[in-house]
Amino acid sequence: EPYIPSFVEVNYIEGSNDPKWSSTNFPWTKKLEANNKKVFGNHSFRPNQREVINATMSGYDVFVLMPTGGGKSLTYQLPALICPGVTLVISPLVSLIQDQIMHLLQANIPAAYLSANMEWTEQQEILRELCSDYCKYKLLYVTPEKVAKSDVLLRNLESLNGRGLLARIVIDEAHCELGILKKKFEKTPVLALTATATASVKEDVVQALGLVDCIVFCNSQDKKSAWKTSTSSSEKIILMNVELSTVYQEWTAKKVAEKLQECGHKTAFYHGNMDAAQRSFVQRQWSKDEVNIICATVAFGMGINKPDVRFVIHHSLPKSIEGYHQECGRAGRDGQRASCVLYYSYSDYIRVKHMIIQGQAEQSPWTAGCGRNNMKNSDRILEKNTENLLRMVSYSENDVDCRRLLQLLHFGEKFDSGNCGNTCDNCSKIKTLVEKDVTESAKQLVELVKLSGQHFSSSHILEVYRGSLSQFVKRHRHESLSLHGAGKHLAKGEASRILRHLVIEDFLAEDVKKSDIYGSVSSVLKVNESKAYNLRSGEQRIVLRCSLSLSMLLEHMFH
Ligand code: ADP
Ligand code: MG
Ligand code: ZN
Repeated sequence: EPYIPSFVEVNYIEGSNDPKWSSTNFPWTKKLEANNKKVFGNHSFRPNQREVINATMSGYDVFVLMPTGGGKSLTYQLPALICPGVTLVISPLVSLIQDQIMHLLQANIPAAYLSANMEWTEQQEILRELCSDYCKYKLLYVTPEKVAKSDVLLRNLESLNGRGLLARIVIDEAHCELGILKKKFEKTPVLALTATATASVKEDVVQALGLVDCIVFCNSQDKKSAWKTSTSSSEKIILMNVELSTVYQEWTAKKVAEKLQECGHKTAFYHGNMDAAQRSFVQRQWSKDEVNIICATVAFGMGINKPDVRFVIHHSLPKSIEGYHQECGRAGRDGQRASCVLYYSYSDYIRVKHMIIQGQAEQSPWTAGCGRNNMKNSDRILEKNTENLLRMVSYSENDVDCRRLLQLLHFGEKFDSGNCGNTCDNCSKIKTLVEKDVTESAKQLVELVKLSGQHFSSSHILEVYRGSLSQFVKRHRHESLSLHGAGKHLAKGEASRILRHLVIEDFLAEDVKKSDIYGSVSSVLKVNESKAYNLRSGEQRIVLRCSLSLSMLLEHMFH
């Protein structure tokens, strides 16, 4: 049976349009503004920052969806500074935590972190401080594993809470099931933050965390910042995904770094097999501008706060559009113009797919810390990972549509490519496009979605349409036999563009659901009957712009 995500009703309140939260009449407003300037050096608030702070300081549970670089940290660091007590921050990556602590200490905000690979005596010292009557820390960072595994920590938190000193629980990059915290600390407000989320992730997270009367703030995933031309000469570059397999990742990251050093670049590498000391050494070099290129695997912390990264270059294929979006978000946090480059070849797809099947693919950082996937789920997860990868391939192969439109569509947002202003490769291409009438194929695809019961993903529909004989397709072929292989004559990229176009133009609706707490995405295509009617009746034609290949040019000339 195909995996069909369950639909759960979750109660939450949209906060984004409620003027209450943008008010400047809260008792803490003056203090907030003063500290934002004095301690953090900001002249104003970014979109939704003030709102989120007001909602969490009013005692509500809050869920925030804000793209990378949007300024999530401030929404809990500022309240932590001006509220009595300690704010607990749960964050999945130690590298990310270290980076935050460094910045906090620079701003004279007392903060500490606990992680499993710290000396026990050092941990004890921090825990003792938590028990003292005048605990000096304003923020305590921990990893999700630490919360799950350490009874000592929970006891200390209970003691803190008992004395009314647990100010707030923050879950940064909230993909983790930490419902236990809300149960244990019922009255403590929870602030859950995430950068990457499809339209329905918020429901899943709100439910998994057991948040109550939660207020939700969503910022668009699009980078709207006014881009200016960079004038910096030693540009910061992150070279991502330099590993081609986990076994060789160390070797490749190193080799690529060496090559770049030979060419005279100040380069360092960063990967999952390095020990903590090596990692923080590289991180410091990077923060202090002693190196300007990092060759990294996905182990390189996404939150590492280096605002002036000018390029994120993907040396090989990311495993999902979410991952890609997240990793690209490391560039241009200062709002200056930045570029992302993806090197793609079909052979990378085969290699990454192989890695996924071998179960070797390194877990991306935002799913880490959620516990290992159990065996029962492994088939389904494999299927999801493969689908996520296929979506990334189809994105990479698409050389016509606006990149921003494609990415935002993936997150359930619509984007007018007219607003791209030639910032993506496809929009800035010299257009040698021909128009092609694809109405017949479009009709068949809509029919296929309908005949197969409207509970399959687009990649399944495409496989059936193009006549695939995979086991899964064979098993489900009977319902749609008449259209199996009807699109054999189309190139895969072409068929998937037609299908995507049908989604963009609302002939089909794509229900994107995050299908499990590990962050994988599944989608199901449905027919929008009222629009499909016009297509079936022949009233509406579908014409696509295609880039001009030689074969198409010939076809065009002789028709
Ligand atoms: P996120 O966690 O959402 O990815 P961060 O909290 O790391 O983003 O913030 C990204 C960058 O934006 C940091 O360099 C931070 O100092 C800066 N920043 C955050 N809020 C503001 C603000 N109100 N004004 C100016 N800069 C800000
Ligand atoms: Mg962050
Ligand atoms: Zn574009």
